[in-house]
Amino acid sequence: MSDTNTQRLEFKSELRQVLNIITHSLYSHKEVFLRELISNASDAIDKIRFNSLGNDALLEDNKDWKIKLAADKDAGTLTISDNGIGMSREGTIENLGTIAKSGTKDFLESLKSADAQARPELIGQFGVGFYSAFMVADTVTVITRTAGNALDGVRWISDGQGEFSIEAVEKPSRGTDVILHLKTEEKEFLEEWRLRQMVKQFSDFIEHPVVMDVSREDADKKKTIVEETLNSRKAIWLRSKTEVTPEEYNAFYKQISNDFNDPAKVIHYTGEGTTEFKVLLFIPSHKSFELQFGEAKVGPRLYIRRVLVMDHCEALLPPYLRFVKGVVDCSDLPLNVSREMLQQNPLLEKIQKNLVKSVFKALEELRTASYDAYLTFYKELGSILKEGLSRDWTNREQIADLLLFESINTDPGTFTTLKHYTDAMPAEQKEIYYLTGEQRTQMEHAPVLEIFREKKWNVLLMTDPIDEFILPSLSEYKGKQLKAADKGEFNEPPDESAKRPELQKKMQPLFDALKKYVADLKDIRISTRLKESAACLVSEEGGVGANMERILQKLGQADGTTIGQRILELNPEHPVVLSLYSIFEKDSSDPRIEQFGRLLYDQALIAEGSKLPDPLGFAKRMNDLLVKNAV
Ligand code: ADP
Repeated sequence: MSDTNTQRLEFKSELRQVLNIITHSLYSHKEVFLRELISNASDAIDKIRFNSLGNDALLEDNKDWKIKLAADKDAGTLTISDNGIGMSREGTIENLGTIAKSGTKDFLESLKSADAQARPELIGQFGVGFYSAFMVADTVTVITRTAGNALDGVRWISDGQGEFSIEAVEKPSRGTDVILHLKTEEKEFLEEWRLRQMVKQFSDFIEHPVVMDVSREDADKKKTIVEETLNSRKAIWLRSKTEVTPEEYNAFYKQISNDFNDPAKVIHYTGEGTTEFKVLLFIPSHKSFELQFGEAKVGPRLYIRRVLVMDHCEALLPPYLRFVKGVVDCSDLPLNVSREMLQQNPLLEKIQKNLVKSVFKALEELRTASYDAYLTFYKELGSILKEGLSRDWTNREQIADLLLFESINTDPGTFTTLKHYTDAMPAEQKEIYYLTGEQRTQMEHAPVLEIFREKKWNVLLMTDPIDEFILPSLSEYKGKQLKAADKGEFNEPPDESAKRPELQKKMQPLFDALKKYVADLKDIRISTRLKESAACLVSEEGGVGANMERILQKLGQADGTTIGQRILELNPEHPVVLSLYSIFEKDSSDPRIEQFGRLLYDQALIAEGSKLPDPLGFAKRMNDLLVKNAV
């Protein structure tokens, strides 16, 4: 081939950084490179197999599907070949050099801030794919060709630094050879035993044969070379549950999920009814790269009689279960229709219902039988699961049972469930109380909780930002209403509430005067929830609370006006409120009324964790008081 064909191109800058990390800081789990390359080869075979349905010409009579490993000790190379779909010149440039997967930028950012120990895990989640070849090779050559003309082959070479070169070559057979020029210290990957072991460990269940030429001695001690298949090829989801070891499940999960960690739970069964389908799903223990940074795809892989039809079949799982990975293999679906048509097949809806049920059952089992594992899962993925509360009305109760919350009656870091909460409710308590906020430490001391502490009623502390958004859908649990501890009025028992209107009436002129000074309030009233503090802020029932206001501010969607809709509650028994009232009674134009009133409002804002609108004014009022006190 003439040199005019050769192009030197630069890796996209984000990819360069990823490559740099792979070559210089990823020392553990190096052997995953083989898993990744075999997996790519297997995907490539699945693709041509699917695309050639009804179009035999694409096959070029080359459909003895296989992935071949060839170790050349003299040259120091390991080659992984497949007769899959291959890549065109443009495809090669795009796939192996210029397109970094979505989310890479955010991933790199978080990698910088992560501590050294967490890094390999993060990189693992990123899913290094093809580029993992550079963990063990100092140069990688890819020779590839799509179905068509033997002269249309492409050779891609790179040392994984900044650039790669690409040129046209002749390639007799369709498919891809990935040739790894192994680093001197990685020559163990040329050993037959090592390759066998790695294939067995990571790629045993790959449907296509992974083969290698091995030398065999026959009875007369004559050596012959035979092609041996290294993997057992049994699609793991078709095997019976009792035959599959936990290690095999874990290895398969890692293969399909790009996760270094074992899954939290395996779901493996045969669905029956109008149709038979095999299900192998996994509930991860951690948030995957895609969920954290990239575009998370919804749904498991769909196979039809062992042919991979879709990497993510959205019709099979709702978006709020997008963390579930796995495989569904159904024999009663048509193979020769487009993916779009297939997604509308009514059978899929039935299977979806069945899968959702099985996921809930598995989560419930995990929660009851392996609580620690459930907690790890919940902390990472619970906020995604919660989305289901507003999206899946039929399973709302099931999701509600899976929720965990801290509460004022549980120690920090320990959780309660709605069931536990309601079981422990005293008879006089009618509603489930909660408080939303950012941090337990701050929320615990909120003045609005004083009445609950006194009554020993529990209050759920909701600290996940999504809680604010799902609460409207979770308005009740088993017939008990959920009620914000800082909204609306706290309904006292009748004997206590009897004296309130009278007090309110008495103090109303003071409140009216205060409203002039703290104009951005909806109302000022006597509090029924304060026991120790002088003041607190609450919202109207159904109004925007302080936490929601802060969230909206962060999202750039609040203009600060909602805070103005708050209600200032004053404790009529508190000495400050009492002395303020007596100052007012003596002289309603005393300047201390404004000073006290504003300070009470500021205090209430600070106590709920909100920002003071006028911090300098607050400091000045405080200082004036201190000075007066000092003389
Ligand atoms: P991923 O496999 O997660 O998409 P990779 O970095 O491993 O990411 O591969 C990037 C892309 O390169 C693949 O999506 C595929 O399109 C292409 N590719 C890699 N290996 C092969 C192969 N053996 N045959 C055909 N295409 C391949």
